[in-house]
Amino acid sequence: MRIAISFDYDSPVGYRESFGKTHYDPAADQKGTEALLKVLAAHDVKTTFAVVGRVALPGNPPDHCPEQIREILAAGHEVASHSMHHRFLAPMRSEELLEDLRASKQALEACIGRPIRGFIPPFNRPSHFPQKGAFSFTERLGLQGRGKGRQSVASLLTTLGDLGFGWCRISYQNSFENLAVKLGLLSHPTAIQPFLFRGLVAVPLHATGFGETSIALVRRFLGTDAVITLYAHPNQALDTTIPNDESAELLDRFLRVFENERREGQLRFETMAQIELAVRAVTRNN
Ligand SMILES: [Zn+2]
Repeated sequence: MRIAISFDYDSPVGYRESFGKTHYDPAADQKGTEALLKVLAAHDVKTTFAVVGRVALPGNPPDHCPEQIREILAAGHEVASHSMHHRFLAPMRSEELLEDLRASKQALEACIGRPIRGFIPPFNRPSHFPQKGAFSFTERLGLQGRGKGRQSVASLLTTLGDLGFGWCRISYQNSFENLAVKLGLLSHPTAIQPFLFRGLVAVPLHATGFGETSIALVRRFLGTDAVITLYAHPNQALDTTIPNDESAELLDRFLRVFENERREGQLRFETMAQIELAVRAVTRNN
């Protein structure tokens, strides 16, 4: 099996404008990323960091950390986009969405000097995806207080394709399967596998953090050829004030738990870009 770990680097703009947090350490992403890079280097594991584009612009940390983005790349990790300003994408008009995605791609590419292939949407939204049986009425009706949803997973993937992106991490649940889990007819939701949709490789998200839930999930798929995707936030890596599955310490433990399986070749860690290439290779051969 393969595991793809991605990190959502929100930056202070994410806290201020999106989460409305007033008490926060504005350097939490910067410090958390340093800690994560150390753990990942110690285990020689490569991952994907999706960074808010504004962080790549020249200026002072912690709002702007172009040096750190180049360090992430130099350590062998993939750099992807987490939008330009960490705004909620679902209610955006198409021109606004296009502009935000384009600006983030340009800012990150100017920073690292190479193409950005991947995108991770803030808040894992939109999640409305009728083509896959996923209906989010709260999102469509704007019940989160963020405005009526205009975008869906399908329109996001189409826009990303127009801008030259190659993959997008997505999060949705088939509404019928959801119901079956709630009714106890199904013990777990399916771990949906990466697939090609309108030219984009869509990589479904499976779990948050590196705690017991993620360990159990990986154990369930050992010995199969599944791809499992996990994610965390660098700004949680050093947070000890809350019960936290996303800490650098738990990442270290998680990687030690599966060290033997890794050595025996039963599992390997890949970046999202590697997952994208594999999906395209299989699609070409079929
Ligand atoms: Zn985010």
